[in-house]
Amino acid sequence: MPSRILTAFIVICLHFSMLQAQEGVSIDGRLQPILNEFFDQCKKYDISYYEKLFQLQAVDIVQNLPLEEDNTVLGMVARDEQGNVDKILINWAAMLDPEMLKVVAFHEFAHHFLDYKHTCQECNEIMAVTNTSYFDIARDWEDQVEQLFLTSPAYQERASKKVVSNNHE
Ligand SMILES: [Zn+2]
Repeated sequence: MPSRILTAFIVICLHFSMLQAQEGVSIDGRLQPILNEFFDQCKKYDISYYEKLFQLQAVDIVQNLPLEEDNTVLGMVARDEQGNVDKILINWAAMLDPEMLKVVAFHEFAHHFLDYKHTCQECNEIMAVTNTSYFDIARDWEDQVEQLFLTSPAYQERASKKVVSNNHE
């Protein structure tokens, strides 16, 4: 019985320390559910995200990203002096449409958590520089997300490590 209590205590402590660590990252409440959904996908594809999450200072919606006819930035990753990503920033204008917000957020999350660069200049993919239609991506969401994860550098690196370790067994 005492060992059970001890186990419960350790579990509570672990849980508490994880919550504490997450408190170091300031996450905008409007982005939190989308981030949770992204992490659910990470779990599904066995991609770890804790280390990269705690590297961040903020996941935020901001007012100061460009919003001009030929110069619109709906989202970006910001880097510290050492060149490491320390913030994920989303333009407030992306919130005008919930589906656009989700595509833009997944795009920026994938830059950081999945080590993605852009896949194309202008096309209908989450990682396009410019999306030709947010609506088309939203309508094809499940396939788009599957493609995003399966073809990501993070997933492919994980898969190649698995092959290597299998060869040693
Ligand atoms: Zn991008």
